Amino acid sequence: MSQVAEVQQAGELSQASDSVIPTVVAPSSAGALFQLLRDGRPRTRADLAAATGFARSTIAARVEELLGIGLIAPTGPSSSTGGRPPATFAFNPETRSVLAVDVGVTHARVAVTDLNGRILVQHEQELDITSGPENVLDAVAETAEGLLASVGREIGELLGAGVGVPGPVEFDTGRPTSPPIMPGWDGFDIPGYLRQRFPVPILVDNDVNVMALGEHAAVHPDVANMMFVKVATGVGSGLISGGLLQRGAQGAAGDLGHIAVPDGDASLCRCGNVGCLEAAASGPAIARKLRDQGFDQLGHAELLDLVAEGEPKALQAVRHAGRQIGSVLAGCVNLLNPSVIVIGGSMALAGDQLLAGIREKVYSRSLPLATQHLRIVGSSTRGRAGVLGASALVTQQMLAAERINALVS
Ligand SMILES: [Zn+2]
Repeated sequence: MSQVAEVQQAGELSQASDSVIPTVVAPSSAGALFQLLRDGRPRTRADLAAATGFARSTIAARVEELLGIGLIAPTGPSSSTGGRPPATFAFNPETRSVLAVDVGVTHARVAVTDLNGRILVQHEQELDITSGPENVLDAVAETAEGLLASVGREIGELLGAGVGVPGPVEFDTGRPTSPPIMPGWDGFDIPGYLRQRFPVPILVDNDVNVMALGEHAAVHPDVANMMFVKVATGVGSGLISGGLLQRGAQGAAGDLGHIAVPDGDASLCRCGNVGCLEAAASGPAIARKLRDQGFDQLGHAELLDLVAEGEPKALQAVRHAGRQIGSVLAGCVNLLNPSVIVIGGSMALAGDQLLAGIREKVYSRSLPLATQHLRIVGSSTRGRAGVLGASALVTQQMLAAERINALVS
């Protein structure tokens, strides 16, 4: 290869969207020390010196810096063995707020949280994603301003805003990329538009990634390898591997819905292929199969009602959809070896039958080693995974060591 070609290729590589530029953070910096304090446990300066091995004078200087930006606060004296008890400090999650927005196809949920993802106030409203980005984002922004006012928080106190939308997103720019069910949103600068009213960092990702982050942060923080599967109008997943959300090269990782179902039928999918999981096992697909069996006028809500009433044909259809999802997930389990799979989305409200079908196929089709400690569970965030994840998206990024160091310098 010529030298010019080599240089060109290196340039292309460095511009690839999944390139990783490692950031060096001094272990004795305020940002690094803060990561230790994020668990919320009160510690003395001596505790911090013992935990890090750094000199007391270094620790004292870093504690002052973190007190100065309000991220830690005094928590009172520790119990001590005589003399003046030493002061303790802990993470102060109340110091700033996060705006968390979960935009769906027919509704949005907006919340204000503290820096631990605790929801201070939230509101759910109906909207139509097809009415376009300006209409949807204006409605969401108006709700957000009202919620902030209701808890006495200023826009200037926001650490940032996180937004989940129901389509693929280029994470670095926050722009949707060819979202199939969001006409008018392709390439729209969501952060730029929202910054006119909220001049803070704004992070946007697709809804399933955001839900995965939310379920992980709120329910499974110690699980390093987790899949969140959303079964609703579509079927998709968010992958957490090695403790980190995996977006893939183009932000398309986890798109389960267009994997072909083994032994599936030849239903035409909206993507143009036949036999996709989404065309077989999503909420609309299940409803369509029941309509074919004589259940007229059956929409999503009526389907959930039929399941709740225990209509055998509905239970059978949901269970069968569970098996189809499970047979695709079995391959994912072999590939990724998660220890927890969480099933969420509106079809998860159909409960036991869907989970039972999924478990049946995953446990019978995956390798024994991969399923040895695997748990397949329903979502336990009751519809709040999206806003919890939007909040986590912001705190994970904005409370990282290098960001804190930039704040204190
Ligand atoms: Zn498809």
